[in-house]
Amino acid sequence: MESVLYREVFETDVRNKEVAKLLGDIADLLEIKGESAFRVGAYREAARRIEGLSFDVETLSAQGRLQEIQGVGESLAARIDEYLKVGRVQYLEDLKAAIPAGLVELLQVPGLGPKKVKLVYEKLGVMGIDDLEKAAHEHRLQALPGMGEKSEDKLIRELERWRNRSRRLLLGDALPRAEAVAEMLQGCPAARQVEPSGSIRRRQETIGDIDILASSDSPEELMACFNTLPIVKEVIAHGPTKSSVLSVDDLQIDLRVVKPVSFGSALQYFTGSKNHNVKLRELAQKRGLKINEYGIFEGETGRRIGGNTEEEIYNALGLACMPPELREDRGEIEAATADRLPDLIEMGDIEGDLHVHTDWSDGHNTLEEVARAAMAKGYSYLAICDHSKSLGVAHGLSIERVREQRQDIDELNERLHPFRILAGIEMDIRADGTLDYDDEVLKEFDIVSASIHFAMGQPVDKITQRVIAAMRNPYVDVFNHPTGRIIGRRYPYEIDLEAVFAVAAETHTALEINAAPDRLDLNDISVRRAKELGVMIAINTDAHAIPQLEFMRYGVATARRGWIEKPDVLNALPLPELLARLKRSRSK
Ligand SMILES: [Zn+2]
Ligand SMILES: [Zn+2]
Repeated sequence: MESVLYREVFETDVRNKEVAKLLGDIADLLEIKGESAFRVGAYREAARRIEGLSFDVETLSAQGRLQEIQGVGESLAARIDEYLKVGRVQYLEDLKAAIPAGLVELLQVPGLGPKKVKLVYEKLGVMGIDDLEKAAHEHRLQALPGMGEKSEDKLIRELERWRNRSRRLLLGDALPRAEAVAEMLQGCPAARQVEPSGSIRRRQETIGDIDILASSDSPEELMACFNTLPIVKEVIAHGPTKSSVLSVDDLQIDLRVVKPVSFGSALQYFTGSKNHNVKLRELAQKRGLKINEYGIFEGETGRRIGGNTEEEIYNALGLACMPPELREDRGEIEAATADRLPDLIEMGDIEGDLHVHTDWSDGHNTLEEVARAAMAKGYSYLAICDHSKSLGVAHGLSIERVREQRQDIDELNERLHPFRILAGIEMDIRADGTLDYDDEVLKEFDIVSASIHFAMGQPVDKITQRVIAAMRNPYVDVFNHPTGRIIGRRYPYEIDLEAVFAVAAETHTALEINAAPDRLDLNDISVRRAKELGVMIAINTDAHAIPQLEFMRYGVATARRGWIEKPDVLNALPLPELLARLKRSRSK
């Protein structure tokens, strides 16, 4: 490991800018709160001074010399110290908590400073974006002092853009785009390492902005390359180490460029989560070390002891480097300390997909097409689970059709051996908890899964008992999309998951992580609880067309966020073990 003082290697002004922004944010909130112009001005003045400082604010803090900066008194110095130590300031959090959340959000709309936010709040009762939009469209803003028709029009346009930019993306939309941009960037001659960071790298189910981190010896050159990529519609902001662009499909993409020597520490820092990093920083402090995006340093001497890679950061703290999906401060640091990190499930562990549709019900492809696509993915089996008869809208299968499909499957299996198509069904659980086919028919399938597709608004007791009844059926192996949510569109059923998990464990019914990017249920938190209670998990795509077989990665990502390991996953079992696990074999 090289031993350089980071002052020698890195520009000082990034940290200074951060601190200046922090003080500016405090000033904004104080102004909205109606604090005296003197106090507000003091924060703004200090922010300005620190931004223009030629010394590194962090070094001054370490040396106890912050108050030498003009305009920085005792209390300001304490806030800056607090920020540099723990990454947040309680005072700012308290201010945020004391002001309607909608107003804090309004501050982020370009062109709306704290003065105007305070004005629309006091004069028009505007408490957030929705109110403001309404007031603008009703032309109530023009009458305010300092506003007019023109500025109202401009604000309406800004609001529209801001809304587009701030909507949350599904992981399934964000990840492929981030990877595509990273690949394009990799083609720029100035690029060294390139990696999507932030919540995308942690595979959170929804994403704010797309964040990409890169390293380069000539950052400005890389920035120029980024700003002119063919997917860029507009450059929103650009600086020497950070740029934000709007893509042709209106997504905000942020690129941050660091020196190659600090790529690992920057990747760790910008991957987060925030809570994980706060914990990590506390741990570092206890060991007399300091971590930031430039590296890991000895607190006393400032000597850099690592940061080229993420491993160097974690290892210096006595921890194994952990997968990004775990970094949510949900016990991963404690687990790493005790050397008990889970051995997470991987894409390569998946042996097959247990929930796929064909054109026998509402899918787009034929049995053979889907089977061959699964073979091409390297799977050893595939369960075809078309809809049962209740689901008229999805061409649910009559018993006669089920038997015809079975003949096709048998015939295909002879040709495709050793690949195996399992004859399955996605069985509707009726409103009263009974199933669409009776046990004599269910017996004929290789695998049976059950779902709720209607009467989703039943009260919690009713819907829970309905599901439990289905899981107690001697042939039902999997309960699909257990909460029925569609992210951003449909709330989960009112279902008592704890009760469902207990019966699932008792009856050996697996619960699904439905890998469709707008479902992803069970979600990360629920799936972890299910595992704790001894429930087996099936990770399925519910593909209705061949390209959707690729959804598997989002299901696996969710499983990893839920600490799921290979032995927890039904479809990570080789075929003979899978068959032996199913209820029909157990009861023999
Ligand atoms: Zn379904
Ligand atoms: Zn389905």
